[in-house]
Amino acid sequence: MNPMWRTLQARHVDAGSCNGCEQELTHLSNRVYDFQHLGLDIVASPRQADTLIVTGPVNDTMYLALHTVWEAVPSPKWLVAIGDCAAGCGVFQSAYASHGGVAKALRTPDVVVKGCPPEPRQILDALNQLRHKASGN
Ligand code: SF4
Repeated sequence: MNPMWRTLQARHVDAGSCNGCEQELTHLSNRVYDFQHLGLDIVASPRQADTLIVTGPVNDTMYLALHTVWEAVPSPKWLVAIGDCAAGCGVFQSAYASHGGVAKALRTPDVVVKGCPPEPRQILDALNQLRHKASGN
């Protein structure tokens, strides 16, 4: 396969966000950003994915589920934290049920997109850069 055509298939886990980051993530599939045109997609099952996108600070409720989903993604795989909460610097990081972001709750993400919430363009650029990195370009 030509590495220029490497795609990324992402499973998304909302790990306790306020849904602000999800709103921005949703925009990637509209006709303005059209992320499928770049070879990026959100898939329904971690078994179909090579990338895990996490939003939210990782709360107690989602901690085990996040680990289960990460283990279900076949290797090689990449981890993406979207938003300040997932990055460990958001408004919920010190909340009583928060694990303080993806790095503390799971492992260091390959990509971090900061912002509360980040704009769709920031998310798209970060995912596209990861796609090039995964392609060896
Ligand atoms: S970073 Fe902001 S928008 Fe995203 S989940 Fe946290 S509070 Fe909500």
